[in-house]
Amino acid sequence: MLNGKICLVTGASRGIGKAIAERFAEEGAVVYANAREEGSIVGSQAVPLYFDVTDSTAVKQAVMRVKKEHGRIDVLVNNAGMVSNELLGMIAKDRMRDMFEVNVFGLIELTQIVATRMMMKQKSGSIINISSIAGVEGSKGQASYSASKGAVIAFTKSAAKELAPYQIRVNCVAPGMVDTERLQVTIKERYKNVMPKIGMGRLASPADIAGACLYFASGASEYTTGQVLTVAGGNDTVSREFYDINFK
Ligand code: NDP
Repeated sequence: MLNGKICLVTGASRGIGKAIAERFAEEGAVVYANAREEGSIVGSQAVPLYFDVTDSTAVKQAVMRVKKEHGRIDVLVNNAGMVSNELLGMIAKDRMRDMFEVNVFGLIELTQIVATRMMMKQKSGSIINISSIAGVEGSKGQASYSASKGAVIAFTKSAAKELAPYQIRVNCVAPGMVDTERLQVTIKERYKNVMPKIGMGRLASPADIAGACLYFASGASEYTTGQVLTVAGGNDTVSREFYDINFK
């Protein structure tokens, strides 16, 4: 589905990003997989591209490297993100600022550079932003994280409007709770009680999210932009139950 497409996936050393990079490569794409830690991109066909999405200079250098090697970027997946779980009274400004730097400012800056320096000139491209069901529905105990993911949705819709004349699509995938390495065993145990309340009776796998991204990356979504695709197994209970599981 992505034969020969040049793709850049941020936060691809593990979890959802790794699954996206692997799926895109299986579909014939040339994939640049990003993370901060040197040596952390292993076991995939992707080309490692180490940089911190909050470092403007490094972001520009990385995009210029892809430009030099391929002259284009067809698909950008803004997946790198951090989470912060706390009740309203415990929100710390420094942590919130760090989170917004990655989830929002980094995402906007990389989109800006890829769109203006590459995709607008190509007059084509697909940008996929990973939000969260928390950004769509809100989540008790995740107010600041939800705010950052809500910002991703609003940015997606605005950028989609600006970039549509250039045939550049900008869409969002909003996962429910995903079974990644990040989900510690203890929390997984507690989620067992919630599982039956999810329509499909299980958490999402990283591959489920990669499948939704594949749709937005491919020609199958050629006329679709500014949309938010929730991938949560037919139920958003997990997000609503987040508070009970983590804070009760
Ligand atoms: P993980 O925490 O497992 O992985 C995060 C990835 O991002 C790693 O590859 C990490 O690599 C990279 N990363 C973190 N900060 C930066 C940075 N500043 N610059 C570049 N890379 C960075 O995340 P998940 O796979 O769980 O989540 C991926 C995305 O999906 C996030 O945006 C998250 O908010 C969202 N999401 C996740 C859900 C879940 O249940 N897991 C649910 C809904 C949404 P390194 O540390 O080496 O830099």
